[in-house]
Amino acid sequence: MAELRFSALREVFNRKPVEIENHPRNISEIFAVNVFDFPKMERYLPVRAYEAVKESIETGKPIIRQIADQVALGMKAWAIERGATHYTHWFHPLTDATAEKHDAFLERTNGSNMIETFSGELLVQQEPDASSFPSGGIRNTFEARGYTAWDVSSPAFIVGTTLCIPTIFVSYTGEALDYKTPLLKALSALDKAAVKVCQYFDKNVTKVIATLGWEQEYFLIDEALYYARPDLMLADRTLMGHQSSKDQQLSDHYFGSIPDRVISFMKDFELEAYKLGIPVKTRHNEVAPNQFECAPIYEEVNLAVDHNQLIMDVMRRVARRHHFRVLFHEKPFAGINGSGKHNNWSLATNTGVNLLSPGKNPKSNLQFLTFLVNVIKAVNDNQALLAASVINEPNSHRLGGHEAPPAIMSVFIGSYLSSILEELVSKVSNRKMSPSLKTDLKLGIGKIPEILLDNTDRNRTSPFAFTGNRFEFRAVGASANCGAAMIVLNASVAKQLEIFSSEVEAIIKKGRKKDEAIFQVLKKYIIESKRIRFEGDGYSKEWQEEAARRGLHIITSVPDTLKLYLGHEAKSVLVDSGIFTEREIKSRVEVEYEKFIKKVQIQSRVLGDLAINHIVPVAIDYMTQLLNNIKGLRDVFDDAEYNHLAEARKELVISISDHISEIKKLVHDMVEERKKANVIPDLYEKAIAYEKNVKPYFEEIREHIDKLERVVDNERWPLPKYREILFTR
Ligand code: ADP
Ligand code: MG
Repeated sequence: MAELRFSALREVFNRKPVEIENHPRNISEIFAVNVFDFPKMERYLPVRAYEAVKESIETGKPIIRQIADQVALGMKAWAIERGATHYTHWFHPLTDATAEKHDAFLERTNGSNMIETFSGELLVQQEPDASSFPSGGIRNTFEARGYTAWDVSSPAFIVGTTLCIPTIFVSYTGEALDYKTPLLKALSALDKAAVKVCQYFDKNVTKVIATLGWEQEYFLIDEALYYARPDLMLADRTLMGHQSSKDQQLSDHYFGSIPDRVISFMKDFELEAYKLGIPVKTRHNEVAPNQFECAPIYEEVNLAVDHNQLIMDVMRRVARRHHFRVLFHEKPFAGINGSGKHNNWSLATNTGVNLLSPGKNPKSNLQFLTFLVNVIKAVNDNQALLAASVINEPNSHRLGGHEAPPAIMSVFIGSYLSSILEELVSKVSNRKMSPSLKTDLKLGIGKIPEILLDNTDRNRTSPFAFTGNRFEFRAVGASANCGAAMIVLNASVAKQLEIFSSEVEAIIKKGRKKDEAIFQVLKKYIIESKRIRFEGDGYSKEWQEEAARRGLHIITSVPDTLKLYLGHEAKSVLVDSGIFTEREIKSRVEVEYEKFIKKVQIQSRVLGDLAINHIVPVAIDYMTQLLNNIKGLRDVFDDAEYNHLAEARKELVISISDHISEIKKLVHDMVEERKKANVIPDLYEKAIAYEKNVKPYFEEIREHIDKLERVVDNERWPLPKYREILFTR
């Protein structure tokens, strides 16, 4: 049985780094060669079409059919020149993956000749049979059609020989079945609300975009070892495995020199990424052995989300060329760090200002403080919703672990900014403010930039940390589509900024000056959102207790957290603002319950199979060997000597036998619980049953298996061990 494991190890020992051919000297030479971006549009489109696309991207104005036809022609000409034979609408269904269905640029002419065609009609909208995508009951199979519609703001690109056109995905009846549709709505709401606030400070601001720089963490493991681990293959994580004696204790992997095979993989996928216009910049070893990170230069949120989905796809494909498998699961190995996807987020204006970067003078610093405080308030008021946006089955293994953000939302801004906020609270009064007080306040905030620059205090334990010129939302899972978190964050901030301007207007109407009104509302928000600010150790036990006292939401259950999408926060932020309809949000939660149930169910089945078919037989074999040995002792030695010698062996037999019995019993009980859960009709109740009654068996069963791994003959053990998976490459 252990044959597969050992042949896999032999394979790994013989691996060499894969040579990358044609690596260009300058990245700029190949950057975005496979993207139909502005320079290419300029070359391939008539001026009028080019201008129309540009305008549509900037203002959201729809593109008329005639223009779409011209764009399709230009796009086709460019794509065919670059070797494309097919095209596809590329979208993000609610599966955490991307979807595509390729069609050839092929049509029969009147005669029997074939020609290459592509039209505005095909570019703008398509009707894929969508019946097998999750829809949470929105779409019955008899109305299986869904629509995909061109997202002009994300440029088309070529992968292999296929032209990919980013699209939204909606049902026949118009409900969103993807992440992109609501994300675009949230971003447009944010633009509107933020421009209004910016106008208090600078009349030239007419557009605000949200920016996102994701840091993608991942594990790499050799494919031979991967194939020898059915749990990794089917459940994306190891369901058993004794801890390696050495793993990350010495922190000798973090930022260490990158192994040759890995660097070759990185260069290779980065090359593909550059051709697709993804500006990847940073690569390094992460804390856990065989864990790495990749981060790009930030981009506008919608594009950044597309690029993240695309790069995960590219990495999976390129990894195969290097005989690796890349694991994006949030917690593939117990006992060592899991993987996240920190979402660095900020707001930028058309005038080139980063709204979360302290400015050069008191006026721009008041603008900075306004946005800072509003974001904090938004997180405070929508903490439960933000938790719901990042929680799912795999991420639940990571959040609250000792290396990941805790399962509680809080905001870290550092001691200096905290003191500025406190100062504001103590000085601002609701009465008319004297000019000297205003000057004093403004001078106080005028000092921010110098001090922030040297202020390097960073809190790695905070799920939502201010890092100098942006917030870092660290609770997002490595495998997630960042769209989910970005919808909620941007929608929450949009809503908050709307409330802010209406409160400021109300005070101005009462005859107060604009800056006075702003100061007063900010003061109120700082007080109201104090509970969400936390500067201490987010991993500590004291924080759990303190957070409970402060009434913060603590994630303890996945289905219960998902249910918060149906609560009052969500209604005001997501439904009233038109980002989701009531039906859409309900269906989305159902999709999430279903994903949760299925993921637990799959893990439970894989664990049961492995336990009974792989582990128990090996343990029995080894036990038989021990029993034969004991019999042999009996034949050779006299009673006194035999009793002495056989004692330890007998104990071992009994302990192995106990583990086997326990495993069998636990697996049996787990299957019974599954059966009970499976007949529960209500999805929420069913998810709770899976969480409360099925999932707890995983740890229990694993414990017995991991103990067996320590005593059973290494020569017989069927699955690659942690020390092998994490240290051979
Ligand atoms: P860290 O030190 O936190 O690991 P990294 O260099 O790995 O930082 O990643 C930081 C990410 O933050 C990068 O993707 C970077 O482009 C992004 N970032 C920087 N400024 C902004 C901004 N204004 N808006 C959004 N993301 C930003
Ligand atoms: Mg980083």
